[in-house]
Amino acid sequence: MAEPIPVTPGSGTAAFHLLAKPTGATCNLDCEYCFFLSKEMLYPGSRFRMADDLLDQYVRQLIEAQRVPHVTVAWQGGEPTMMGVDFFRRSVAYVERYRRPGMTVDYTIQTNGTLIDDELAGFFKEHHFLVGISIDGPRSMHDAFRVDRGGAPTFDRVMRGLERLRAHEVDYNVLTTLHRANADHPVEVYRFLRDEVGARFMQFIPIIERLPAPTIDVPLAELGLSPGLAQRAPWTSWRDRPLYRQEGALVTDRSVTAEQYGSFLSAVFDEWVRRDIGEVYVQMFDVALANWYGEPPSLCIHSETCGTALAMEHNGDMYSCDHFVEDAYKLGNITETPMADLVASEQQRSFGLAKRDTLPRFCRDCDVRFACHGGCPKDRFIETPDGEPGLNYLCAGYQAFFRHVDKPMRMMSELLRRNRAPSELVAWYATEDERVRAAAAKSGRNDPCPCGSGRKVKNCHGSAA
Ligand code: SF4
Ligand code: SF4
Repeated sequence: MAEPIPVTPGSGTAAFHLLAKPTGATCNLDCEYCFFLSKEMLYPGSRFRMADDLLDQYVRQLIEAQRVPHVTVAWQGGEPTMMGVDFFRRSVAYVERYRRPGMTVDYTIQTNGTLIDDELAGFFKEHHFLVGISIDGPRSMHDAFRVDRGGAPTFDRVMRGLERLRAHEVDYNVLTTLHRANADHPVEVYRFLRDEVGARFMQFIPIIERLPAPTIDVPLAELGLSPGLAQRAPWTSWRDRPLYRQEGALVTDRSVTAEQYGSFLSAVFDEWVRRDIGEVYVQMFDVALANWYGEPPSLCIHSETCGTALAMEHNGDMYSCDHFVEDAYKLGNITETPMADLVASEQQRSFGLAKRDTLPRFCRDCDVRFACHGGCPKDRFIETPDGEPGLNYLCAGYQAFFRHVDKPMRMMSELLRRNRAPSELVAWYATEDERVRAAAAKSGRNDPCPCGSGRKVKNCHGSAA
């Protein structure tokens, strides 16, 4: 099993990760919720193609800037496969020219999968690329928002690309965004990814599409609106939307709610923990286990600080993070300032520390802070119950999920400390479920379920009896 794609890697390593966008924000699709497409507006008149001399400089600087004998060359977009296979061939040639003796290299690419043909899949296989495919679940859930520039569905094209990867035995993972159309169907989504897509590593990314102002022209207070309230999105294409910035306390109604996010993760966990530990890797569960076990997690979002996952545009402009490709977070351009200096700059250091230093008291006092660390700063735009700003929009979901998995996480951590496999929990759950079902069978249908869920027997372990 290959390592997961470091889409948003953690800060527990001396290395840094850089997502490079060779086509900038341009993409052959027009997913309705995609905030990034609007970033084309940052570069008016650009052809949005990384030039060959910049590619050369980028690879050389990326390798020179590493303090560890390992480098990950990570492509993202927009849609990076729009560059064509020859671009990636040249990138590999530059890596071979500049890599130091003994240095290991990983190649990763995040793609919508629709442009993958035999030639590209064969190239990925030859150079051991780990390919992340974006797919949002079964057809109807995927096609709800993942459409092309003409508004046509894309599910079949993604599955065709996936077939090419499978035919060439390329390592692939899936990235599934959670939104209005799929967030209420956790088990269906998970089983689809596991059984039909054949994914062995999954990332679930919540769609939180912020709106800077109400979509109807009336003051918020007059409407009795509260922060975080969903509003109908006034656009379905990036061509109509304003340049996206991380601002505003409203979200579009395509966005997942905090409660949906917590319930989704909890339901997937309940399925995973009963049969798939050690077989299927769900990024959030690995990250949670690392925090329970006391190791730095591999995801910045639930690390204490961040700032080691940067983004680079097609022209060499570097930004603090893929989610903050905004003027205020631009560090400089690698053709003017060495990449290593931009990564080590005071601006970037402050960006990473602010994640910890701006936590509201509500987070600092929270019982699951060790697992959550307040989530990503981009999502901290609601108020705490006592009115302090800066609470994460997903807080209620984080609390629900982390509390839901507390016991099994403690058990898995204990197994790891004893050099035993966390997958031993599968057998424990089988025995426990059998015991609870037997107890439920002896209870009244309206009694509280003996599993402790708080639900009635008829709606819980008694429902299948
Ligand atoms: S801002 Fe969010 S996504 Fe970006 S590095 Fe920090 S935690 Fe990660
Ligand atoms: S669960 Fe909520 S209160 Fe606790 S650390 Fe996370 S965001 Fe803060």
